[in-house]
Amino acid sequence: MIEKRTPISVFEAVESVVQYQKQGETEWVQLEDSLHRYLAKDVKADHHVPAFDRSPYDGFAIRAADTVDATRDHPLQFEVIDHIGAGAVSHKRLGPFQAVRIMTGAQIPDGADAVIMLELVKTYTENEKNYMVLKRSVQSGENISKKGEDAEKGSVLLTKGTRITPGVIALLATFGYATVPVVKKPVIGIIATGTELLNVSDPLVPGKIRNSNANMVIAQVEEAGGSPLYLGKISDQLKESFEVIEKALKQVDFLITTGGVSVGDFDFLPDIYEKLGAKVLFNKVGMRPGSVTTVAQLNEKVLFGLSGNPSACFVGFELFVKLLIRLWLLDQKPYTLTAKAILMKSFPKPNPFTRFVRAHVSVKDGIFHAIPVGLDKSGVVTSLAIANGLIILPGGTRGYQVGEHVNVLLYRDENGCEQLCPEIFQSCRS
Ligand code: AMP
Ligand code: MG
Repeated sequence: MIEKRTPISVFEAVESVVQYQKQGETEWVQLEDSLHRYLAKDVKADHHVPAFDRSPYDGFAIRAADTVDATRDHPLQFEVIDHIGAGAVSHKRLGPFQAVRIMTGAQIPDGADAVIMLELVKTYTENEKNYMVLKRSVQSGENISKKGEDAEKGSVLLTKGTRITPGVIALLATFGYATVPVVKKPVIGIIATGTELLNVSDPLVPGKIRNSNANMVIAQVEEAGGSPLYLGKISDQLKESFEVIEKALKQVDFLITTGGVSVGDFDFLPDIYEKLGAKVLFNKVGMRPGSVTTVAQLNEKVLFGLSGNPSACFVGFELFVKLLIRLWLLDQKPYTLTAKAILMKSFPKPNPFTRFVRAHVSVKDGIFHAIPVGLDKSGVVTSLAIANGLIILPGGTRGYQVGEHVNVLLYRDENGCEQLCPEIFQSCRS
């Protein structure tokens, strides 16, 4: 007898998965290995940046008060008493009508309170003394990068959960972080199920297909910030599958299986969850593709039973697995970014389930346009290579027309949302 399953909405499915979030521990890595990791601690400024008043230009450090009467018709002459480049400090103190020739990044000498750029003055030498001639006045503080103007000592510069980008690396380097506290990546076990599966390097033989899900999911885990642990493919046999999965659970923080979660004669994952004693959170979601997506939980570990259909597998990962990875990494915006876009093709047929349509989203005249790509079937793999977003068509009694405004999930964008955008996903409640 075929098991009857009750679908829950995408919203409820996401909410129930979130209950099982865990946060990763801290580890320290070399600054050069920290790109795209997530900060495990807040970063505070332990000194001012800049640490001293400095010159942002090549020019002359002067006293603004001396320049008040300088005009084109009444140039003023300054004696140049010193010459410093970045990294050097002048030990001379400026007196009236004296200047120090100063290069970008050098510390402003004592007594000076402004800098005039090289291009705006004339210089000459007489009797082995150097002079600078000025034809305009300057304000006190002009062309000085003030101590602490970039970052004040004690201020929080970055909060934990920040993804480390090249800009963040510059900041960490500025504050002397040769090693960086980052969140330890979750280890995500990946097992592909299916007697039909060949290795990628195998030649095709009748009835078989290459295992594309494993490599796809490995890449998705890496992109999301997790550490993939590929544990191989297994054929559709209950005993063997159970043993492999039971053993796998000991090595991972989360476990992804692909395939075998449906109600077919060779779909053994439901039996395996039962035999393991795992609590099944849901085994049917009101969405297409991926309605058979199953999530279970056992001993603080979450088991994601993704569909074997490549597109369904992809969507299941983006909605559920990625979220738990991002929460683990302390990401403050763990939900995939959503935006409004203009639908570029009609979907006249109503669908009872929320539909996630693989799409290419582009910006034209400042507005997002979403063009569905490839065949809208869950078993299709080609469209995944072209898509960069998913159009969300809430289930219901009506279809959607070209030109309508729809919501899209921009899963390639690293900027996420703080919450599961309620106005979008509430409409996907069952
Ligand atoms: P299943 O979820 O096991 O019922 O599989 C659904 C469909 O996805 C079937 O057509 C499978 O052959 C296909 N499939 C299952 N696993 C994979 C995989 N690892 N790579 C590519 N296709 C797969
Ligand atoms: Mg199968």
